[in-house]
Amino acid sequence: MSMQSVNPSNNQIIQVFEPHSEDYVQAAMERADLQFSTWKNESFEYRAQLFNKLANVLEERKNSLAEIMTLEMGKLTAEGLAEVEKCALVCRYYADNAEKFLKDEILKSDHSKAFISYHPLGTILAVMPWNFPLWQVFRFAAPTLMAGNVGLLKHASNVQMCAQAIEDVFIEAGFPNGAFQNLRIGSDKVEAIINDDRIKAVTLTGSEGAGSAVASVAGSKIKKSVLELGGSDPFIVLDNADMGLAVRTAVKARMRNCGQSCIAAKRFIVVERVYDEFVEKFSSFLQALKLGDPSDILTSCGPMASEDLANELLKQVNESVEMGAKVVLGGKRPEREGAYFEPTILADLKPGMPAYEEELFGPVASLFKVKNEEEAIALANNSKFGLGASIWTQDLVRGEMIARKIESGAVFVNHMVSSDPRLPFGGIKTSGYGRELSHLGIREFMNTKTIAIN
Ligand code: NDP
Repeated sequence: MSMQSVNPSNNQIIQVFEPHSEDYVQAAMERADLQFSTWKNESFEYRAQLFNKLANVLEERKNSLAEIMTLEMGKLTAEGLAEVEKCALVCRYYADNAEKFLKDEILKSDHSKAFISYHPLGTILAVMPWNFPLWQVFRFAAPTLMAGNVGLLKHASNVQMCAQAIEDVFIEAGFPNGAFQNLRIGSDKVEAIINDDRIKAVTLTGSEGAGSAVASVAGSKIKKSVLELGGSDPFIVLDNADMGLAVRTAVKARMRNCGQSCIAAKRFIVVERVYDEFVEKFSSFLQALKLGDPSDILTSCGPMASEDLANELLKQVNESVEMGAKVVLGGKRPEREGAYFEPTILADLKPGMPAYEEELFGPVASLFKVKNEEEAIALANNSKFGLGASIWTQDLVRGEMIARKIESGAVFVNHMVSSDPRLPFGGIKTSGYGRELSHLGIREFMNTKTIAIN
C-alpha cells in the first residue's frame, strides 16, 4: 500500500510514496550486514569525524529540514529549527564521548585481571514515530553507530519525507554504504525483519500496542529490545512553588509540539491552597495562545500531526465529559480546515474516564486538586505510565525527597521534563524499558563482555 504525506494544516496530500520492495529490503539488510564487518573495526576517531560532519550538514540544512517537519506533521518552524540543532548536538556529544563511555572497565576479583569489554552487536532496527521525526532517529543513531553498530530505520508512515531527508544527510556526510539506511515500509513488514538473522536487536518509540507487538517478536527470537512508549507525566505544584515559573513552564511543558510529546506534562496535580491561583493563570496563558499556520512565526499553537489524531483526542475528551469531567477551557476542534484542536483544560477527572486512564497526546491538560503532598504523590503514582514527572517547590530538600518517591524513569524539580544527551532517558511500567542517551544509552546494544585472565 502506498504511503501519503499529508499537510495537517490544510489536509492536502503533499507526496505519495511507494514502499520499498521485498528485494530492496533484503538487499538493505545484506548491505548493513556487510558494512558491519568493516564499521565495527573502524576507529572511534574515524566515526567521530563522520558524526561531526553530520552535525555540520544538519546545521547547513536546518531550514529545509525544519520546513519538511512543518509540512509533514505540523511542527512550528521555531520548534523544528530547535529540533535540528538538538540532533546536531547529540551527534557531537557521542562523537566526543563514545570512546570514553565504552572503554574497558577493570573489575576487582580473584582473577589476576578481570574487566568488561564492550562490543557492538550488528544491525539494529529502529522503529520510530512521527512526533519528533528527526530527534527520535538521531537519538538512536548517534550512540548506536558511534558504538560500531549499523542502523536500519523504519519510520512512521506519515513522515516519509523526513525519513528520506535523514538518509540523505547521512549520505551527504560521507557515511559508508549500509551504515545507516531508511526502509520505506509499513508496520506489517516489521515482524519479518526482526525475525531475520541479520537483525540483532530492535528499538521502538511509539504507542504501547506497537511496543508490545515489536517486543513480542523480538522476545520470541531472544533478541534485545528497547521500548520508549507513552507517558502521562504528573506536574506537581506544591504550596510553596514559585507560581510564576510553575505556570509559565506548565504552558511549555503541555503545549510543546502541540502536546504530542511522550514527556509532556499531562496531569497537573496542584495542592488546594494554590489550586485556584494556578488554574486562573494557566487558563489565561493557554487562552492567549495563537492557533494557526505552523510556518507563521506569530503562531504559538499549530495543528496536530493528522486529522485522525485530532479526532481520536476529541473522542477521549468527549467521553470524559460525558462521564462527568468539566471543561475549564476549549474542549473542541475549531471550525477551520486542518488537524487543529483548541488548547484545552479538563477538571473533575475520575478513575475510569479516558482523560484519567489514558495518555492524551495533544493540547489537553488534566487538572487535579489535592489536599497535600502525600495525596499528590499517591495520585502521581496511580498511573500505568512511568516516564517522567516534575515537582514545583522552593524547598529543594522536600523536592528531592518527593522525587525519590515518584514511580518514573526521571523526575525534575523546578524544571520541565526534557531530554538531554547527557542524561539517561526512558521509563518504567507501560512507558517502556531500557535507557537512551548518556553513557547508559550507548551500552544498550552492546555485548558487555567479561574477560577474566589468570
Ligand atoms: P504508533 O505506535 O502506531 O507508531 C510508532 C511507530 O511504530 C511507527 O513507525 C509505526 O509504523 C510503528 N508501528 C505501529 N504498529 C506497529 C506494529 N504492530 N509493529 C511494528 N511497528 C508498528 O503510533 P501512532 O502514530 O499510531 O500514535 C498513537 C499513539 O501512540 C499516540 O496517540 C501516542 O499515545 C503514542 N505515541 C507515543 C510516542 C512517543 O513519543 N512515546 C510517539 C508517537 C505516538 P506506521 O506508521 O507505519 O504504522
